[in-house]
Amino acid sequence: LDPVHVIGGGLAGSEAAWQLATRGVPVVLHEMRPVRTTEAHHTDRLAELVCSNSFRSDDPQGNAVGVLHAEMRRAGSLILASADANQVPAGGALAVDRDGFAAAVTQALAAHPLVEIDRGEVDGLPPDDWDKVIVATGPLTSPPLAEAVRTLTGEAALAFFDAIAPIVHFDTIDMSKAWFQSRYDKPGPGGTGADYINCPLDQAQYEAFVDALLAGEKAPIRDFEAKTPYFDGCLPIEVMAERGRETMRFGPLKPVGLTNPHQPDVKPYAVIQLRQDNKLGTLYNMVGFQTKLRHGEQVRVFRTIPGLESAEFARLGGLHRNTYLNSPRLLDATLRLKADPRLRFAGQITGCEGYVESAAIGLLAGRFAAAERHGAAPDLPPLTTAHGALLAHITGGHIEAEDAGPRSFQPMNINFGLFPPLEAAPKSPDGKRLRGTEKTLAKKRAIAARALADADLWLDAT
Ligand code: FAD
Repeated sequence: LDPVHVIGGGLAGSEAAWQLATRGVPVVLHEMRPVRTTEAHHTDRLAELVCSNSFRSDDPQGNAVGVLHAEMRRAGSLILASADANQVPAGGALAVDRDGFAAAVTQALAAHPLVEIDRGEVDGLPPDDWDKVIVATGPLTSPPLAEAVRTLTGEAALAFFDAIAPIVHFDTIDMSKAWFQSRYDKPGPGGTGADYINCPLDQAQYEAFVDALLAGEKAPIRDFEAKTPYFDGCLPIEVMAERGRETMRFGPLKPVGLTNPHQPDVKPYAVIQLRQDNKLGTLYNMVGFQTKLRHGEQVRVFRTIPGLESAEFARLGGLHRNTYLNSPRLLDATLRLKADPRLRFAGQITGCEGYVESAAIGLLAGRFAAAERHGAAPDLPPLTTAHGALLAHITGGHIEAEDAGPRSFQPMNINFGLFPPLEAAPKSPDGKRLRGTEKTLAKKRAIAARALADADLWLDAT
């Protein structure tokens, strides 16, 4: 068999190479370090962890990333096996000795007879005679390759300052205070005229909210990030507040065209809107709330908003440099670039976020490419699995709203909001309806159990 070329020996590329090799497909893994390095990597090892040493929760029942771990172990993941073999104590989390972990991944790949490791930068589109390629070059893809991909896709930008707004689980929004309505009841494309969730503020609440935003502790910006421009002039909400106490009321918080059905006679002084973020309707993003407030501060400040007092966040806002594709538009269901299907993408460049998610998408890309090399059709994971939910977020589950700017697709960690809802709400063992925290936990456990059962069926069949 001809080799598949994998570009980037990070979390995704290493996993993709392993999946290919263990399926009998030769691989050339191109890693530019140490010949050329990135602003965040420090070693020449494959799968180097650039920051924290945690793979987050290892709980396969109550945590979505724990479900992803469990599925990856069942799918023969090199990243998970190397993490398990180099675990350090971290409570319920899977944390690793970073050097031991990266060394284990590097040794396993170097020792595999079907893997050739080529240390060098791929500084443009791959040569024509590489008929199957997985591009897994990560959030810090080297500029010549990023530029070549940008040109090929016709995108305005691939690397930019992400200004990300927080995303809230719908079932944690208090709809006795918030309400559904589009401004002036105007339906957007495919909408009903009640497409937004609105949270009202009176004047005192608005003033207190401005003060909290101004006083909130902000995250520092790293040196290399400071050189990257804002994307689409997306101003962080606290910067907007700094420009004048009324600025937000004339921007994303303007109270016009909206009537609060809970208090029809009281005109809200300002309104915070949330827009549906996924097709399932389980996640809503806070419109205009990109922010560089520290995560703890975001939770504290945003829970002062009427209706969001008990909000659980699927992701918090942020501001950082990133390189990723507008995947729902550019990639097909098996992660191939529509404009050039010999190129398949994997890892954070596809718009997932984090070590584990990047490795999981590498695992899928490796399996898909191996199937193709053997002349078979790639077998997609069911949507109910963590792999399927994450893949669907990347390749099609996201809603592109008209007023969300040219690119509203944002990278995301795996979370329960990405899974299809349960067909029936879980009940207590004695058949009673569950409420509050008990209900939330039971739902998570049921989604997790369904994911693992369906993952077994998927993996047994492939
Ligand atoms: P990487 O792991 O970055 O691997 C990409 C590889 O491609 C690199 O080895 C790079 O050298 C190589 N490469 C790039 N361009 C080329 C080229 N042209 N030719 C050949 N090789 C090339 N995630 C977490 O879960 N926890 C954290 O604490 C965390 N902190 C982060 C801090 C920073 C500063 C950054 C930038 C990211 C952080 N992330 C964190 C995100 C995490 O790094 C990524 O999710 C993950 O590493 C992505 O995996 P990947 O394989 O897609 O990319």
